[in-house]
Amino acid sequence: MSKRIRIKTTAYGPPWDSMEGGGITSTGVKLRAGQQKLVVAVDPTVIPYGTKLKIPGNPFGDDNLIFTAADTGGAFQGGTNKVDFFVAGKGNETNHDRLNNWGVKDLTAIIVGKGSPRDVALLGSGSAMTVNKAKQKSNAQAIGKLTKSTVETQQFDRAAYDQAVRKSAVASMLTKSNPKSLLLTTGALSTTPPDPSQFTSTVAKEVMKYKAPAATAAAASVKATAPRPSGTKYGHLEIAPGASNGKHTQEPWRKFVREVAGAWGKPMVATTTTNHNQYTTSGNVSEHYEGNAGDFGIGEDIRGGGNAVGARKGDEMAAHAIAIAGRMSYSAAMKLAKAGGIHNFNTPLGRVQIIWRVDGAQNGGNHFNHVHIGVNPSR
Ligand SMILES: [Zn+2]
Repeated sequence: MSKRIRIKTTAYGPPWDSMEGGGITSTGVKLRAGQQKLVVAVDPTVIPYGTKLKIPGNPFGDDNLIFTAADTGGAFQGGTNKVDFFVAGKGNETNHDRLNNWGVKDLTAIIVGKGSPRDVALLGSGSAMTVNKAKQKSNAQAIGKLTKSTVETQQFDRAAYDQAVRKSAVASMLTKSNPKSLLLTTGALSTTPPDPSQFTSTVAKEVMKYKAPAATAAAASVKATAPRPSGTKYGHLEIAPGASNGKHTQEPWRKFVREVAGAWGKPMVATTTTNHNQYTTSGNVSEHYEGNAGDFGIGEDIRGGGNAVGARKGDEMAAHAIAIAGRMSYSAAMKLAKAGGIHNFNTPLGRVQIIWRVDGAQNGGNHFNHVHIGVNPSR
């Protein structure tokens, strides 16, 4: 018996190295560059882990291959019929092209069975039943660390914001016709446009894991080992309520963020610091959890086009951070910020990482609603 479902497919692959070390899926399957395991990432609420699928038209050119649903990521939240093929690109020319040329394709998947998510076939081996006992044990330990946990995300109250916009428009009209109106003089109505950040709140959300971002999207990496210039201006860092789990951030991160705030001339408001999943996909402790990273929310996802204020705010924060970490001009940094990506810099404070305007499991999820800044003194 088999069931068919329409799916939207994408492809992902190594390297993860510059971000979080090796790759381990959310179910504990170890993925390596050059070793083609037939793993797909799914939304486990739509396609449960361990589901065996045939996907005619898959990137490997053999319609009879059996893929195992054994991974997920931030992009899979909310019940999507999305399937992301793992393609072990690095060190293999053919796979490298498969990975880069795949894009998005609509295909039909045939569910052919259900088994362990760790029974994964290797391309060419023809079997989905080759996992040794020792590996199973260490994988099980990894899974233990990667159970469901809660992260906080930003939510924008569009209705209330729209109402506030209408109110200020009414006030502007009234200013022209009747500037002495009690509605204006008593402050019941104001012509000041509403601030979108006032309509943004933090909500807790259950997720499977925090997927390690890959440094593939327009990543920039430069050495910036020169000492910090004297006369560096430090601004203010604010930690929003609920951003931390009670654990404090580390001094190098705070110092860097305060330097960004100084250059920007506005306080940097961290909306998530340590209140984040403890582990990444690779089983490493997340930089957030260690106090070496923070997210700076800018309200609603900027891709809708309704959050121009947030887009500008995010661009400015990211550009100042890139300019400082990369020792480059603000205008050059702004170009990188607007292009979007994961930007890594070796600095005297440690490895500084700025993530902005990227999405997808490979990039650690949606970064169109916040700027991520990490400062890891041990990297
Ligand atoms: Zn983050």
